[in-house]
Amino acid sequence: MPDMKTYTGSCHCGAVRYEVTTDLACTITCNCSICSRAGWVLNFVPAESFKLVQGEENLTSYKFNKNIIDHLFCKTCGIHSFGRGVDKDGNATAAINVRCLENVDLKSLTPFEFDGKSR
Ligand SMILES: [Zn+2]
Repeated sequence: MPDMKTYTGSCHCGAVRYEVTTDLACTITCNCSICSRAGWVLNFVPAESFKLVQGEENLTSYKFNKNIIDHLFCKTCGIHSFGRGVDKDGNATAAINVRCLENVDLKSLTPFEFDGKSR
């Protein structure tokens, strides 16, 4: 049974703020070049489960490799609270940085270790 909850996420300075409804039973850490540096704990959701409350104009995009994922970060504080991309079927997806969500006990999560480095 999915345990869907609505969480609030934000960057550090608060310019970027969003709401996401998701089940944090499925989180991912990844050893690829960007994830290993940034230390993200990721949760992927369909784009419709994600709502940017404020800060679209404060986002800067960083793209690399296949340019599939829009790595977005706050212009002011540099925090990368979410990204946008498409899944393998071409559906719009949001990549949530679980570390930027409020009221989440990270210790209670058991992220799957994705081997992005080898892809
Ligand atoms: Zn910020």
